[in-house]
Order: sequence, then structure tokens, then C-alpha cells
Amino acid sequence: MRTVVAKFGGTSLADAGQFKKIRDIVARDPDRRYLVASAPGKRFAEDIKVTDLLIKCYEDAAAGRSFSEDLALVESRYREILQGLDLTFPLAEEMAVLAEHLAGNPQKAYVESRGEYLNSRILAEYLGFTFVDPEWCVCFGADGKLDLPMTRRAMGAALRPLKNAVIAGFYGADSEGNIHTFSRGGSDVTGSLAACAIQADLYENWTDVSGLLAADPRIIHEPKTVEYLSYRELRTLSYMGASVLHTDAVLPASDLGIPINIRNTNDPENPGTMIVRKLPKDQKKYPIVGVAGQKGMSVIQVEKVMVSDGSGFSAIMLDILKERQLPFEYCLTGIDSITLVIRSDILATCREELFTEIRDELHPDFLGVKENLSLIAVVGEKGTEASDANVRVLQALTREGIEISTINQGAGKLNLLIGTPEENYEDAIRAIYATMEMDD
Ligand code: ASP
Repeated sequence: MRTVVAKFGGTSLADAGQFKKIRDIVARDPDRRYLVASAPGKRFAEDIKVTDLLIKCYEDAAAGRSFSEDLALVESRYREILQGLDLTFPLAEEMAVLAEHLAGNPQKAYVESRGEYLNSRILAEYLGFTFVDPEWCVCFGADGKLDLPMTRRAMGAALRPLKNAVIAGFYGADSEGNIHTFSRGGSDVTGSLAACAIQADLYENWTDVSGLLAADPRIIHEPKTVEYLSYRELRTLSYMGASVLHTDAVLPASDLGIPINIRNTNDPENPGTMIVRKLPKDQKKYPIVGVAGQKGMSVIQVEKVMVSDGSGFSAIMLDILKERQLPFEYCLTGIDSITLVIRSDILATCREELFTEIRDELHPDFLGVKENLSLIAVVGEKGTEASDANVRVLQALTREGIEISTINQGAGKLNLLIGTPEENYEDAIRAIYATMEMDD
């Protein structure tokens, strides 16, 4: 028997109808033994997530304002779910505990975690599974950082003896019993931790889309779904803005090589996207799996004759960045120049001082900056194994008259990074995406 951890996101648990879909999904595969649940999400576009209502309650309570209206909305969300499922559950008592906490000295993490706590208890009740409170097995240090080794041990010990369980996502606690949450969307992380703790065969992440899209749907009409991709490819695409899974959810699963399957609760037959360590050999006809990017970039150009003559010119540049703890996208050293791509909002915080330091330390022949650029990552592990793909991308951009301001491909060949003026961004994505469709 395999062991599958299945995490269900907020839209998958937004109302009683969605709970019923989950019951069917779980019934279809008895390997789905451990479930991780989010708080109820949006039922329609203008709806408010329960987590957002709870945060509002906390803010009002902390500011001495009345929170009862929003708390009543939270209660009504759960009441509707319970009625729709015909379940008995001590909701009034639970809400009274929360109201009392809010009226005292409210703790933000505790309040916002109650969405997952209540939803998971209800799901466990509905399915006849054991409820596992992450307060006892997702371990944070007093500094608010997750203690991964301790969490693995505690979660493993909590889950292994149980045939089935529902674990609340998004939060845990420190040794003093103080609740801590992950950043928003963090139930994905809980799911990955659970999969890791019990060394699951598969981590399923059930959401409201049928997998990772190969490009931004706001730019490409109905882009294709990526069938298979590697952890590394996923990380690069999500870093550049593609969102389907919390970035911190990748590491625990990828450490153990546990495959992650993104699935759609509203279309359970769809196989979704499979994220794995090693791609199946015959999987892809075209080596590029996806394209993603971001606007708001700047390129700093530092020129000096014979930058790379061994006198440590680039090391000094990197030292300056390190001293200032400045994150940057990439830094390229050429024969007579260094090119640094950095987010414009970060540069804006220190531009004058940074330039003065570069001038004082490096005495460049030229120092300039180009702003309003976008950075596009064309991602695919097989990158230049088929360098033909890169040629096609560059040809397509040239054909469309798109300026290529910078270009970078490391020897790792995971991605090709292209800098282009912001006004060309959407056209560039369209041109690149078209090359990905050529072989379909
Ligand atoms: N409920 C939390 C949020 O809305 C966590 C999650 O859904 O994963 O961010």
C-alpha cells in the first residue's frame, strides 16, 4: 500500500459542496490517508477568505474596535458548511473561546490559525478521520522559524500510528505553546512537511486549477498546463512569479524526492502537473516547460578595461553588494564590464550611496544604469541540450522587433534569462510562448 498525503486548499474547502467533492476524492483512493486542510477560501470572486476575516477581527480587537460583525461572518461560514453536511459540531463553544481570546490580549498568529483549526476539525469529523492539531507536531523556535528536524520527528510520531488523519495546515507552535503561522498560503508547507515526516510516496496538492500553467494566463489565452516538471524548474518559475504552490513547500518534499502532484478538486479526473526530481525520459518533446517574468528591473553597467584580469575587480563588486546585503537577480562579468540586474525598488533604496561606493572602490571608466526593464526566465532543465530551443526563442524575439537588453545562461542550463524593456514584456512572453507551441 502506498501512502499519499493530500492537501486541500481554501477553494477546495470553501463550502459544503466542496467538502462532498473531497469525500469522493478520498473514497476513490484509500492510499490518501493523511489530509491537510486550509481555511475556507473564496466561493466566488468578491467573497472574503475566512483567514482575511480573522485577520480583520484581530486588527479590530487589537485596536480596541468592535470585531463582532466579522466574527459573526466567520461563524456563519462554518455554520453553513455544518448544515450542508448535516454534522453536529460544538461551533458555538469554539466561537466563544475565540471571542474571549479576542477580547483579552489577542495574538495575531493564534487568531488567524483558527480558520485551519476549525475547518480541519470539521473535515475530520465528516470523514471519520482523526484530527491532528499541528500545535503539537509542527515545531517552531521562539524566533518564529520552523525547526525542521524536530517537526519531522514529531509529525512522524503523531501520524504513523494513525490509519487516517486530517492535519490543520498553516500553523504550528513553539515550545512555550505560542502559535506561529507560515506566510500566506502556508498550508502547502504543512502538506510537504507531513509528506516528508512519513516518507509518503506522493504529495498531492488539490487546488482549483489543473496544474501549473506554462505561461501567465493574463497574457496568454488559455496556456497549456505543464504535465511534468522538476523541482528545480518549479522553483525557478515560481521565483519569477508563476504561482501554484508556496515556494517553501518544495524543499521538504524535494529533499526526499517525494513527487508533488498538483490536482484540481473541481476536475479530479485531470492528472494535473507532476513535479519530480528526474523527468521521465520521453516526457517532453520540447525542452522548454514554461516562461515567467517580472517587470521593475534595472541593469547596472560597470565598465573598466580588463575587468577579468585577476585583480579582483568583480570580487570587490560582489563584496559591496554583500556588505549592503543587497539581493540581486544576477551579475555577469565580461572582458571589460560587469552587468548587474537588480530590482528597481531595491536599487531605489540605496542608489546614490551604492554608486558612490562603486566609484570610490572600483574607479570605473563608465558607470550607468538602465531602468524599466523586465526579466524573463525561459525555463527547462533540458535547456540547451537542445540549443535549438534557445535559437528559436531568440529568433522569435528578433522577428517581433523586441529589444534584448541583457541575456544570461549559466552552464547549469536550467534557464535562459532575458532582459527586455518593460513595454516589450507582454509581446516577448507571447513570442516565446509561440515557440513552445510549435511542436504540439
Ligand atoms: N488560510 C491561509 C491563507 O489564506 C493559509 C492557506 O490557505 O494555505 O493564506
